[in-house]
Amino acid sequence: MGRVSKGEKCSFCSGQAFKSISAVEASKYFNIKAETRKRVYLCRDHYKEYKRKSKGDRDLERSRW
Ligand SMILES: [Zn+2]
Repeated sequence: MGRVSKGEKCSFCSGQAFKSISAVEASKYFNIKAETRKRVYLCRDHYKEYKRKSKGDRDLERSRW
């Protein structure tokens, strides 16, 4: 996990990067190119998706009820 400098773009869409994670970590939850070995940038939406996937869906359901 790391802070992201301004101007970085999400690795999966054109949104502004919100967080960066390692490519190894990202590859567990997203389809990323094998040659991507550095940092993967996530926008707010993709970061949420990553959090959801990494935790499982239980927390999300609980917060809704
Ligand atoms: Zn994104």
